[in-house]
Amino acid sequence: MSQLDDIAAIRAEFPQLARLIHGKPLVYFDNANTAQKPRAVIDAVSSYYTEHNANVARAVHTLGEEATTLYEAARDKLARFVGARSREEVVFTRGTTESINLVAYSFLRPTLKPGDEILVSRMEHHANIVPWQLIAAETGAKVVPAPITETGELDVDGMIALMNERTRLVGLTHVSNALGTINPVERIIAAAKARGVPSLIDGSQAAPHFRVDVAALDCDFYVLTGHKLFGPTGTGALIAKRAHLDAMPPFMGGGEMIRKVSFDGTTFNDPPHKFEPGTPNIAGFIGLGAAIDWLNAVGMDAIAARETMLRDRMLDALRGVDGLRLIGAARERAAVFSFVVEGAHAHDIATLLDHEGVAVRSGHHCTHPTMQFFGVPATVRASLSFYNTEDEIAAFLTALAKVRRMLA
Ligand code: PMP
Repeated sequence: MSQLDDIAAIRAEFPQLARLIHGKPLVYFDNANTAQKPRAVIDAVSSYYTEHNANVARAVHTLGEEATTLYEAARDKLARFVGARSREEVVFTRGTTESINLVAYSFLRPTLKPGDEILVSRMEHHANIVPWQLIAAETGAKVVPAPITETGELDVDGMIALMNERTRLVGLTHVSNALGTINPVERIIAAAKARGVPSLIDGSQAAPHFRVDVAALDCDFYVLTGHKLFGPTGTGALIAKRAHLDAMPPFMGGGEMIRKVSFDGTTFNDPPHKFEPGTPNIAGFIGLGAAIDWLNAVGMDAIAARETMLRDRMLDALRGVDGLRLIGAARERAAVFSFVVEGAHAHDIATLLDHEGVAVRSGHHCTHPTMQFFGVPATVRASLSFYNTEDEIAAFLTALAKVRRMLA
């Protein structure tokens, strides 16, 4: 028995899933972009503002203590949720983008030299490409793309073959947001480790869908974003090995990240606070903590099992659509489907699908190099979550057929 057996009850916990769009029931297939929030998350944010609002870590009054306790509890929850070795390894950020920039500017840039290489796969989100390019341009290092295959899978041997004595960091997405591919990150982490090269795994699209165990993966850095994890926007985390966090200089300076400030010199707080200057998104992280409680109650294994069922239904359905080309055919994949349709532009399809109540994303999905590899400027992307249903897949197919008749 799983709570997901009563999917109507589960859906009822997500207020926005009940919306009508252009008079039609919403079919929300844009979960890779951002996930809907359960009432528990919305209530946690609201209750912080209505009952506990105060700044964290600096006030001794009751409200300050309440806010700090709730905020720091979210760190414990996230640490346990992703299997971090300790709560001190969890740095709160605004999301994956900030987490990767933190690693780029604080960990890598200070020691980067001309000729050094940063190895990332060709299926990365721009967030795992552009920060490296920025620090490479400043230091004379270069970003080296690792090959992918026509099926949208990582060429694991090809990536490992590109690791050499100049490689200073290896970056890889756990799950591709554009292709749905689940990468064998363990193999890349192990190969990097064997060569003494630190690894960064982008878990943005993994953490919402299956159990992640950062300690078992043993990567140096794992990053994720809270809004795809059913939490509020502007929340995320960098989970990093303690030794790195101890050695890394602060990324941004300000209040709360210091131990003592004087004009003769300033000493810094311990990790993670060293990397969290200023007033954080307190309500957001409390909401993220509530999202994790909610996910734990439902169970990540049950979520993964349901999404595998939905993935297989969707894959079968899409394969049966004439003139539709799926971009990416990885054996190990999430319920994320990119496709193009003969004779119709992705944006036109997405716009017309919206008129039928179906929310999908169209465009390059912040993965220009992936799109270039497949020779398409844009795709339509349907990305499902556990709260989606087989009826919604049927509604999506009906809407797609109607849209194609309109565009014909
Ligand atoms: N990496 C991947 C794989 C993503 O899917 C996304 C979001 N689309 C990001 C990074 C960036 O996340 P954020 O915008 O929340 O920082």
